[in-house]
Amino acid sequence: MRVAVIGAGIVGVTTAYELAADGHEVTVFEHRGSVAAEGSFANAGVVSPGFVAPWAAPGMPAHILGQRFARHASVRVRPGLDTATIAWLWQSWRACRARTYQSNRLRMQRLAGFSRERLQRVTRELKLDYERNEGYLVLLRTPKDLALVQPTLTALGGSNSRFETLDPSQCRTVEPGLSPETELHAGVYLPDDEVGNCRQFASLLRAEAQRLGVRFRFHTQVQKLIEGRTPQLVHMYAPPEDSTVLGAAAESAPNEAQDTQPMALHPVTEGFDAVAVCAALGSTALLRPHGLKLPLQAVHGYSVTAPLRRHEGHPDLGPRSALMDHRYQVTISRLGARLRVAGGLEIGGSPTRHDPRALETLYKVLHDWFPGSARLSQAQTWKGSRPMLPDGPPVLGASGIDGVWLNLGHGACGWALACGSARLLADALAGRPAVIDIEGLGVERLGAEP
Ligand SMILES: Cc1cc2nc3c(=O)[nH]c(=O)nc-3n(C[C@H](O)[C@H](O)[C@H](O)COP(=O)(O)OP(=O)(O)OC[C@H]3O[C@@H](n4cnc5c(N)ncnc54)[C@H](O)[C@@H]3O)c2cc1C
Repeated sequence: MRVAVIGAGIVGVTTAYELAADGHEVTVFEHRGSVAAEGSFANAGVVSPGFVAPWAAPGMPAHILGQRFARHASVRVRPGLDTATIAWLWQSWRACRARTYQSNRLRMQRLAGFSRERLQRVTRELKLDYERNEGYLVLLRTPKDLALVQPTLTALGGSNSRFETLDPSQCRTVEPGLSPETELHAGVYLPDDEVGNCRQFASLLRAEAQRLGVRFRFHTQVQKLIEGRTPQLVHMYAPPEDSTVLGAAAESAPNEAQDTQPMALHPVTEGFDAVAVCAALGSTALLRPHGLKLPLQAVHGYSVTAPLRRHEGHPDLGPRSALMDHRYQVTISRLGARLRVAGGLEIGGSPTRHDPRALETLYKVLHDWFPGSARLSQAQTWKGSRPMLPDGPPVLGASGIDGVWLNLGHGACGWALACGSARLLADALAGRPAVIDIEGLGVERLGAEP
């Protein structure tokens, strides 16, 4: 089949790879100039199926209200929300009911367990090296933090994720660089979880996909979807203003990047046998004209990435793998010779304007656990958007629109869920039965079908 994939974030790249591995002829359309340039750019990189859960959890509304005036809030709701965001918050609050939360959590964890297996298999088979480290340690500062994580531990006990509850000295054996100055009551250690550079993985997998014949069309915005047995896309190549390849030259220029087809500088209509929409937040505008109204919301977050200091007297400066400070919901990850600290859930507001308070929280948590471990003068800060559905799980499979398939809305766990979601979508498109229970991952869950 000729398949178009819209979006080259981690979800689009993994989808393109799996479809090509099944023998399809795949073209990826991406409005930015490279893979993983938006929400997948500088995330925390954690793959922890046991801690994958909907953000809409019992107690979340009270937690948000309680954090309104907190200096180091993990969730911030900006004033002046638009009506779509208010409606989304309302749907989220409804999904916080214990039973709804439990079902959504199970759906996400099934997918996450399968996804980790798939990620590890692809990594092994293709020998991908993406700054991967094994093990994830959740830090609990006080007995209260341990009590808060208890429901997760009970759920973990019933799953096949290996984990141990550690005392402070055991935590320091796992992560010898942890500062002894900061209060630490306990830790939860998941040895099979991992951390890796999502963007680097996407770049490596793009190269593998290209080897299988996938064509990437960067700087190409899909403007419209036309449904049908052979759906069509209206897309437009719009290189950045400073591009040296302009006008007619673009159409005849040699394909130096070996990934971008010479394209006309006007809208082009092209037909396919199927279209996979992996455009995260860009998906709503494409699907709405077909009567599919997906309640997708950008939930912003931040990361700071900096080179680790090298110090001969202190070989353990910085983290060995990934940690999460449960109190502040901030992760600290080791990525090769750098560390990345990430966190913050910001609803509403600008996708680009940085809130200094959110960054201050990241620096505080880093300083609490690994003081002096990074060259912060060389730090790069990033604000990204999580493409979040109100209840948690992504939407996968047929859209109800002829020829159009969906793989989107992975929220805070897109990297952890991408490889599994991609394989499930490829199986669905081929008419094969799913290899795991995918109940509740279809669009009908949201009552949003066209
Ligand atoms: C601070 C932070 C930390 C995070 N940490 C983790 C973590 O530790 N583990 C984890 O699993 N997840 C994490 N996430 C979440 C994860 O990064 C996202 O879930 C994931 O990147 C979403 O991938 P995506 O491919 O769906 O979206 P994106 O990466 O945003 O890709 C969508 C792509 O579609 C393109 N596009 C949109 N519309 C169009 C169009 N019309 N035409 C052409 N192209 C289009 C966009 O340009 C974009 O490149 C984190 C997120 C943040 C913000």
